[in-house]
Amino acid sequence: MSSSPIPAGPLSRRASRTAIIRCADREVRIGGDAPVVVQSMTNTDTADVIATAIQIKELARAGSEMVRITVNSAEAAAAVPHICEQLARMDVSVPLVGDFHYNGHKLLTEYPECASMLAKYRINPGNVGKGAKRDTQFAQMIEVACRHDKPVRIGVNWGSLDQELLARIMDENAARANPWSAQAVMYEALVTSAIENAQRAEEVGLAGDRIILSCKVSGVQDLIAVYRELARRCDYPLHLGLTEAGMGSKGIVASTAALSVLLQEGIGDTIRISLTPEPGGDRTREVIVGQEILQTMGLRKFTPMVIACPGCGRTTSTVFQELADRIQTYLRDQMPVWKKQYPGVEAMNVAVMGCIVNGPGESKHANIGISLPGTGESPAAPVFVDGEKTITLRGENIAEEFQAIVLEYVKSHYGKENSIA
Ligand code: SF4
Repeated sequence: MSSSPIPAGPLSRRASRTAIIRCADREVRIGGDAPVVVQSMTNTDTADVIATAIQIKELARAGSEMVRITVNSAEAAAAVPHICEQLARMDVSVPLVGDFHYNGHKLLTEYPECASMLAKYRINPGNVGKGAKRDTQFAQMIEVACRHDKPVRIGVNWGSLDQELLARIMDENAARANPWSAQAVMYEALVTSAIENAQRAEEVGLAGDRIILSCKVSGVQDLIAVYRELARRCDYPLHLGLTEAGMGSKGIVASTAALSVLLQEGIGDTIRISLTPEPGGDRTREVIVGQEILQTMGLRKFTPMVIACPGCGRTTSTVFQELADRIQTYLRDQMPVWKKQYPGVEAMNVAVMGCIVNGPGESKHANIGISLPGTGESPAAPVFVDGEKTITLRGENIAEEFQAIVLEYVKSHYGKENSIA
């Protein structure tokens, strides 16, 4: 058989080392041939054990494969073991990453239980101290990581770039016959900071496969340029994310635009979507967006996807929007149980369409689809299962009946007994 003339899919993943993150009974692999990992971060006061444990549970339940917590004070460091105990009581098992700035060397040394219970440390090389103290304090944190056999993310951020390193690179630039632009100098400083600090960590004794790098910026083109260069110059696993992505659709779109380009080029081993939540908003949104980026790109599968049309002048009621929303929410809510009970269900597609124009066609392409009646059409909703029309729903209970058909399909196609040949 000849190969397709139109190539599809992302470029091969960039070759990188694999870092293994461990917590109790769980192991997460980052880099190498491991799937791209979705992670998130709490926004509770870490010293508030219950609030933090509850949010970690929510993030893990939404699918976060690692959760980062701020460890910014003695109280926060002291709380870490209690958070772990609380999580164990709630039967939640997810690796916790400690986020350290300024005083990480002290906290990791003075709170060994915190150092031991965290699965990974994030160190920002721009925030570990100044002058002579900088190298000592950085080394102190790396020594703790070595002692406890923990991986470290060296997480550079352009909002807290090492100013001494930036000054050095600016001086080098000034000495060039043709100096680089300020933007190019900034990119170089970010990449150099990550790579030099990784080398320093290895010199202190941390194994190369215990190091993950990130260089976060808030501009889409800046992020793409910096990560391309970082990927070219090292083989450490890379944590991708647009820092301070913003609120609402802007944050989602900017993150998606930046990460999609890089992921398509095979760059990125773990992602975090740094959305600013609306006041009182749901923190799990960042997990869902991360999963949806990977799933819609065909890189991973997490939850059955609902394919729904946008609606138009042919849909003057909200029936189909409500049904699409109901089914998407239902599928996502079931996943914590379904993923154990019905392996493979995450690959299922469900179409909810607004009228006859594309409804039957799109529904036939999905595992299950329903084509609701548009304005002026007879009040009937044909349902398609594996490409065949099976039933036509009518009346007030279309939503309940369609949901029951979806559940029946899941049970009959993905039940463990069905996967045994
Ligand atoms: S399927 Fe029908 S309702 Fe949906 S966008 Fe197309 S024409 Fe409009």
